[in-house]
Amino acid sequence: MIELPPLPYPQDALAPHISERTISYHYGKHHAGYVANLNKLLAGGGASVGAGAGSDGSLEALIVGAGAGAVFNNAAQVWNHTCYWQSMSPDGGGDPSGELAAAIVDSFGSVDALRAELTAKATGNFGSGWTWLVRLGSSDSDAAEGGGGGGLAVVNTDDGDNPLTVGQQPLLTIDVWEHAYYLDYQNARPAYIATFLERLINWDFAAANYARALQG
Ligand code: ZN
Repeated sequence: MIELPPLPYPQDALAPHISERTISYHYGKHHAGYVANLNKLLAGGGASVGAGAGSDGSLEALIVGAGAGAVFNNAAQVWNHTCYWQSMSPDGGGDPSGELAAAIVDSFGSVDALRAELTAKATGNFGSGWTWLVRLGSSDSDAAEGGGGGGLAVVNTDDGDNPLTVGQQPLLTIDVWEHAYYLDYQNARPAYIATFLERLINWDFAAANYARALQG
């Protein structure tokens, strides 16, 4: 049984940048809906699709082990949304500090260059999907534009896809499904992304994930 994690702030805490109405639909209907769908699938034996799926019962194990299909889609969307809520804060914006800031400079050249990369990728992420800041896995060492294994990169995924499936560790994410911004910004995704980066982005969350990735 997967539980809907509590929001890390009240539903009106991100207003006026993201309205209470958006959060009440996005968290209360979309995120809660993925949890309900997943539990229905698990109760019906859907987790047996894919060898070893969810063997330790965790959401991460389901995402990595389930293979393409309804269990993966709903498990990943539960995880992705939990990551998204924490990627924002009523006190967000500003600049990162400490080890994370140093890693960003190593991989992108500057924090502004990272912001430009997040803007370009999130704006250009066609259709529904997610834009992530990740720490690359060791198998990324040749392909990475962000500095190789252990470096940071900005990656896009489609629909519910999650970087954990390719060994990348998410540090933060931007939901670019229309349901994330349409009530507040209509089709103006670039305005939503600019607001996310200027006013909402939670660098402390990314820094905590980065510190955990270094230990792991
Ligand atoms: Zn969403």
